[in-house]
Amino acid sequence: MEYIILDLEFNGTYSKNRHRFFNEIIEFGAVKLDEQLNIVDTFSELVSPQVTKKLNPHVAALTHINLDELKKSGNTFSHAMARFRRFLGDGVLMTWSNSDILVLMENYRYFFGNDKLSFLRHYVNMQKYCQRAIGYNDRGHQLGLSACAEMLGITYEDEQLHRAYNDAELTALCFKALYDETLLESYIYTCDDDFYSRVTFKNYNICDLKDPNVDKKEMYMDCDICGKRALRRSKWRLKNKSFRAHFRCRKCKRDFEGRITFKKCYDHVEIIKKAAELPLKEDKRAANRTNK
Ligand SMILES: [Zn+2]
Repeated sequence: MEYIILDLEFNGTYSKNRHRFFNEIIEFGAVKLDEQLNIVDTFSELVSPQVTKKLNPHVAALTHINLDELKKSGNTFSHAMARFRRFLGDGVLMTWSNSDILVLMENYRYFFGNDKLSFLRHYVNMQKYCQRAIGYNDRGHQLGLSACAEMLGITYEDEQLHRAYNDAELTALCFKALYDETLLESYIYTCDDDFYSRVTFKNYNICDLKDPNVDKKEMYMDCDICGKRALRRSKWRLKNKSFRAHFRCRKCKRDFEGRITFKKCYDHVEIIKKAAELPLKEDKRAANRTNK
């Protein structure tokens, strides 16, 4: 089995034809690894944009690519795509986070009218794999590629980042450092209809306590200092898509705001609990009650 790690650079632009924003691919970069994870082939192509009239300043600054350079390549998306398909063959496609595969699907739909990548057999989200393999567990933030490389002691030149080929190569080094055959198996998706539903599913926070996906048994808070079950002292209210209430830990004699978020993902609900300082008004009321 071969592994193909792909990275794309793209430019967000408004398509007057379609009356919507479109992330147009401007560069493909990929490396091919054999089963021993040796780089056996590489792929690097600029794409001359057909919708973009002007590069987004952020993209230009990040990639150091300019529009003239892209146009000079004379390479259309459909030509680059045809060559990339041959490069991919039957291999497993890997990208850092699923944003690149979503952009690939978006371009496929824009130019070919179909967002399913019919040639694709297997896919791995390398960011998810690396997060798991390295034991990264920050639910609020995803692990960036350069941060992952740093954690692994892999050195890279800052100015080389954010070019498709270099990012693909750096992803390959992270993958190599974190290779675990059994773990990898559980991260390889077969690209069937279920895969496309999964990859396009947009996670959202549930805002209604009556939603059947809300597990009422989870509506409790433990003190984040001593770990004891805290006492709820107010009704639940919804703010910034999390359910919040005033809690008190009797052991620590401490009041805090408990925040519970139910994040609906494709096939499960993630429950995130946080203890925060009480909002000022609540805090005063709590202090009054304590003083009496
Ligand atoms: Zn406590």
